[in-house]
Amino acid sequence: MAELLKGAPVAAALTERLAQRCAALKEKGVEPTLAILRVGDKPGDLSYEAGAVKRCDKVGIAVRKMVLPAEASREDVLGAIRHINDNPAIHGCLMFRPLADRETELMAIDLLDPAKDVDCMTAISLTGIFLGMGKAYAPCTPQACIEILDHYGIDPEGANVVVIGRSRVVGKPLSMLLQSRNATVTMCHTKTRDLAGICRRADIIVAAAGSSNMVSTDFVREGQVVIDVGINVDATGKLCGDVDFEAVEPIVAAITPVPGGVGAVTTSVLAEHVISAAERRLEESC
Ligand code: NAD
Repeated sequence: MAELLKGAPVAAALTERLAQRCAALKEKGVEPTLAILRVGDKPGDLSYEAGAVKRCDKVGIAVRKMVLPAEASREDVLGAIRHINDNPAIHGCLMFRPLADRETELMAIDLLDPAKDVDCMTAISLTGIFLGMGKAYAPCTPQACIEILDHYGIDPEGANVVVIGRSRVVGKPLSMLLQSRNATVTMCHTKTRDLAGICRRADIIVAAAGSSNMVSTDFVREGQVVIDVGINVDATGKLCGDVDFEAVEPIVAAITPVPGGVGAVTTSVLAEHVISAAERRLEESC
């Protein structure tokens, strides 16, 4: 039976440390604050927002929700970002993407102050992650994968890691984070040939494809670590990952469940970035 890499203990450990840092900031008169900008009310956004608010509450971070109707104009969205940039009481911004209008989304990202970019949307943040330098905050989901590996003592240094999926939000930045931890990373995608064979040779597989149960017994062997980023709904309407958990779990050494794995850590990472942004601002003002 595989070791279950549950997200809850990782999130709890992070939250405890963050609550202390938050209390220290408050003693110095700083109230760490996250602005959440949501346009419309997509179920996925609402569910992530509820999780983020709950986590911030546990840590002691204040949340300011800015909700615009789905039909909000470009100027409304950009106005909200300007307000976030100009308001010194706000330390970080989470904007739900994608927006209906791609151009508005790109303009909003361009406008956001990189110092408040706690989810790595801006080009400056992405460059920082790519170069492994600067003050960028990594995107929350890829960093949640790293937090899980660290918490369970799985060192990616020197390991062959296969990342399935090359999106800008998950796969690509995760590959950069893993390389900065000295892993040997193979990026796979829909055009990859012999994906199962490549996965079988890996020490660690990270599945971030958004394809229900695609990682089957053909992809795995004994001794591997499997991190499942996918959040999908299967044919029966049940939440599932990219990994066929029932079939794969008896074979591999360790695996994250879905739900209760990577997704459970993401909002703690977001909270960590807000606290760091508030600490940085305080340092710079001294
Ligand atoms: P995306 O659709 O933007 O990208 C998917 C990537 O996977 C693409 O690069 C595509 O080439 C690749 N891919 C798709 N099907 C494939 C296949 N059969 N074989 C090989 N490669 C394949 O998705 P995303 O935004 O990166 O999200 C990926 C998954 O992670 C989704 O299920 C999403 O819901 C989930 N997600 C989870 C969290 C979390 O906190 N756990 C956060 C964000 C996204």
